[in-house]
Amino acid sequence: MPFLLPELPYDLTDLSPFISMETLEFHHGKHHKTYVDNLNNLIPGTEFENADLETIVRKAEGAIFNNGAQVWNHTFYFESMSGDGKRKPSGALLMAIESSFGSFDNFMEQFMKAAVTLFGSGWAWFVKNNDGTLQITQESNAGNPLRKGLKPLLTCDVWEHAYYIDYRNRRADYVRAYWELIDWKVIEERF
Ligand code: MN
Repeated sequence: MPFLLPELPYDLTDLSPFISMETLEFHHGKHHKTYVDNLNNLIPGTEFENADLETIVRKAEGAIFNNGAQVWNHTFYFESMSGDGKRKPSGALLMAIESSFGSFDNFMEQFMKAAVTLFGSGWAWFVKNNDGTLQITQESNAGNPLRKGLKPLLTCDVWEHAYYIDYRNRRADYVRAYWELIDWKVIEERF
């Protein structure tokens, strides 16, 4: 069974003005789709031919890992946003954030710093460690914390294709805009 490009959980105009319809058309319709198509072309005849996506992310190397992880990462990224979502965590997740980072504002500052300072293409991650504590990490290229046994809760794509149409080279402006679109109800469910 080939992998399919997941539908976006919102309309192409729902994230405007923070992320434009044109960006979503390219980012989801072209970039994300290309990773799906590449993966489907790469796996026939390999040990991953019938593997699920998470197994590919955890175990594969080279081009199969790169394309498989980019499929997983983009689905996770797009599903983290909504046009009218919950704009701040509460309950157990908020308490865990305050326990690990001191305050929600400090957590926000650290996450944005990780996204803005990551050199080159990659992903800023907010993850749950095995002991239940929370952590912010950076991964280059297609990197995914599942490889290290961590549980991903949130990610920000800082490949230039995520922001160049709307923000040109201004990654920090894009990261601030992304922050406004996070649906914390989704992140609380993952937690
Ligand atoms: Mn991307």
